[in-house]
Parts: sequence; C-alpha cells; structure tokens
Amino acid sequence: MTLDKFQVCEGDLPLDIFNRYFKADSLAIDTETMGLVPQRDRLCLVQICDRDGFVTAIRIAKGQTEAPYLTQLLESEKITKIFHYARFDVAQFKHTFGVETKSVFCTKIASKIARTYTQSHGLKSLVQELEGIELDKKAQSSDWGNVNSLSPEQLSYAGNDVRYLIPVKDKLITMLQREDRWELTQRCFSAISLFVDLDLMYYSNVFEHQG
Ligand code: MN
Repeated sequence: MTLDKFQVCEGDLPLDIFNRYFKADSLAIDTETMGLVPQRDRLCLVQICDRDGFVTAIRIAKGQTEAPYLTQLLESEKITKIFHYARFDVAQFKHTFGVETKSVFCTKIASKIARTYTQSHGLKSLVQELEGIELDKKAQSSDWGNVNSLSPEQLSYAGNDVRYLIPVKDKLITMLQREDRWELTQRCFSAISLFVDLDLMYYSNVFEHQG
C-alpha cells in the first residue's frame, strides 16, 4: 500500500482536513476498537476516506469523550457516511461521543439485499467481487489499544478498510436500482438508529417471536 494520501492525526481532524471532508458528498468511515462491546471496549482509531482516496486515521485517546470536527461530519445530513456494518460503528460513536450519525449507508445491508446470489457479505468478499481487489485482513484482530505505536501492517489494514467503500457503494446502488430494491434498502438504513439504541440498551431479539 502507498502511504501518500494517508495521514494520521491525534484526537480529531485538523481544520484543513475537516474543511476538505465537509465539502464531500460521501465519506467512507470505519473504526477500530478493543472489541465488540461499546460499553466495555473503547474506540481506538477512526479512519475516513473521501472519493479521491484521501485517508485519515484519527487516534482516539483513552477516556476521550469529544471530537468536535468528527462529530460535525457525522451529524451532517448532506454527507453520506458509508460503513461496512454501520450498526456497530454508529453505536460506538454514540456511546463514545454522544453523537447521532445522520445519512448512513451500510454496505453490508446493501450487499445482503442486492447480492442474493451469495451468502458472503463480509468486506473481503464484497471488495473482491466488485473491485477485483484482495484485502488482507490479518491485522483485523490485533491490539488497537496501543494506538500510538501501531505497526505499518495495522495502519495499512486500517486504511484499506475504508479505501474501497465509496466505489462499492456506487456499484451496489446501481444493482439495487436495477432490481427495484433501492427503496427497501433505504428504509433499512433509516432503521439503523433504532437497532443502535436497542443494542446500547442490551436488548436483543425484540422483533423475534421466541421468548
Ligand atoms: Mn476495520
């Protein structure tokens, strides 16, 4: 991976990068955390990528509860925030910064609704099929808490997790519109905030018949 168009920053975006991202129509976003439970496992790194492939990785300090520029991007209605499995990242942001993420696109939900010919909806399979690129996921389960001395492999992995989301989103929208499934998909995106709130209150399966 080339590191030109890749910048690491501390705690929040610097003003110049915020201004650049604030003009974007779409931003790809991913997070790295200590684990899968937001109340227990802290946010360590936030990666952002714009349509030109300009990637920023924000190191989040232990105990940090504010990131005003990042929050402004997340709250903006006019910037589509693209995540792979948004339910997790949006919950992590809400728990850490108290922010309600607006205009969310989830490539995992879009893939499940569009690509009914496969059961593989992980980011690796999606990027492989739609972009023809083989992602290296070896650093996925690693210690992100040591955020000030991340290895080149971790930074490379963190960048690649956001680098292909915008072209993948564009291709999924084309498929969804072709199959008349785009409206249904958008209604699922609107429901993400509901699932996030249920998750953060430890409810599970309230839509299920069992129990
Ligand atoms: Mn990731």
